[in-house]
Amino acid sequence: MIDTLQFPITQVAKSRIKELDMDNVQFGKSYSDHMFMADYVDGQWKDLRIVPYGNLSMSPANTTLHYGQSIFEGMKAYKAENGDVLVFRPEKNAARLNKSAERMCIPEIPEEMFMSALTELLKLDRDWVPNKPGTSLYIRPFVFGNDPFVGIRSSLTYQFIIFTSPAGAYYSRPVKVKVETKYTRAAPGGTGSAKTAGNYAAALYPMVQGQKAGYDQLLWTNAGSHEYFEESGTMNVLFLLDGVLCTAPASETILDGVTRDSVLTLAREWGYPVEERKVSVKEVIEGVKNGKLQEAFGVGTAATIAKISHIGYEGVDYALPGEEQMVLSQRLLKSLDDIKYGKVEDTHGWIYRI
Ligand SMILES: *Cc1c(COP(=O)(O)O)cnc(C)c1O
Repeated sequence: MIDTLQFPITQVAKSRIKELDMDNVQFGKSYSDHMFMADYVDGQWKDLRIVPYGNLSMSPANTTLHYGQSIFEGMKAYKAENGDVLVFRPEKNAARLNKSAERMCIPEIPEEMFMSALTELLKLDRDWVPNKPGTSLYIRPFVFGNDPFVGIRSSLTYQFIIFTSPAGAYYSRPVKVKVETKYTRAAPGGTGSAKTAGNYAAALYPMVQGQKAGYDQLLWTNAGSHEYFEESGTMNVLFLLDGVLCTAPASETILDGVTRDSVLTLAREWGYPVEERKVSVKEVIEGVKNGKLQEAFGVGTAATIAKISHIGYEGVDYALPGEEQMVLSQRLLKSLDDIKYGKVEDTHGWIYRI
């Protein structure tokens, strides 16, 4: 436990927790009683506070509504069997938020403020962390420019907010993904490695086209030549090719995922050769044909591991080996869950206990 900063807490008069059906929690449908807020004014973070969750009031000229100067994070808290609330690697999210901040001209969020806010918020709303197997509390920290100014410039004022939302058990059947060879998620020199609003807005149209064609997700490839895999939807993507676990290096076009880092760490410990290198569409499609592609999966906080059943490329759907053969993805999913729910010893120091 860290020493936390002191700031005022205004509690709700009456908790809404009884309105929540804990057996049928749906992601993104309900929000916990409280949220943390801080304002950046005159070059400083001020007025740190926890208040009841509720609507914001802002100018129609709010710069972020027009120009998207906004960054976010996503992480989860889990309820251990003894009732403790465990957060998975939040320091990594704090560091990444600041990486995104730098790219988007947003002032730094001191780690002490981030961790204090998270700690006090989860202490207060600990009952909102569901305790059924597979469930969690999704945590959404975000920062946005708050100037009521419609000219284009870096905002002078910002708001930092953290709210939380109970999330149900996430089981994903293996997904069908389409190799995207027309649209681009991120280009060299762009904002692909920042968790910033515009990246997600720009990905919606290609995603909808993919869904209309019958795919669950896109497999993004590099801008221009579209020869190499980058990410899958909003997850990093890994391939087990002839016994070697391969994934694109975390570069300026790829989001440096916490799950990706955790998965690579475990795979290395288990003796798998790991290569962080460009993975070509050609070698993966050939690998499906000649049997060298054993597994492919997306990794991210939402699903942890999303196994891939089919890869669509140039109008052909290539079927991967069946789910029962996806030994590594299954082992990774189980091990990460065991760590996150505190069922095994945390040998990596990945768990932050509230
Ligand atoms: C958030 C995100 C990921 C996954 O990161 P995690 O830290 O593992 O949740 C991967 N790609 C994109 C584009 C993302 O936004």
